[in-house]
Amino acid sequence: MADWQKKLTPEQFYVTREKGTEAPFSGMYLNNKETGMYHCVCCDSPLFSSEKKYCSGTGWPSFSEAYGSKGSDESHTGILRRLDTSLGCPRMEVVCKQCEAHLGHVFPDGPKPTGQRFCINSVALKFKPSKPAAALEHHHHHH
Ligand SMILES: [Zn+2]
Repeated sequence: MADWQKKLTPEQFYVTREKGTEAPFSGMYLNNKETGMYHCVCCDSPLFSSEKKYCSGTGWPSFSEAYGSKGSDESHTGILRRLDTSLGCPRMEVVCKQCEAHLGHVFPDGPKPTGQRFCINSVALKFKPSKPAAALEHHHHHH
């Protein structure tokens, strides 16, 4: 097992390993509208695409589905759901499938067609922007 306390910042450790929650409207990815992929900050597994990110107004980055979802089939995504009863009322926790990092929760009040809102902590994520179009153009010239 990796020594997460050495690898992560104190805030990253608190959220991903102790099931913490960052303060609303504090996350660095809340208003990020760049195109790219959000990876697990612990193990680098791709979790959410910018294509499914939307502004929910709740104060945390929100996604309507996990990367790799096929309808309601999440077997090819990087996430798992777990029932969380720690606050009394049951909520569905979202964790990284590969390293079990706590990411956030999923609620049934998202936009259509999925109707889901993945409410994810910015500090649990590492954003990687898509390659710029110019680089792809360059590649085509050599073909
Ligand atoms: Zn992970």
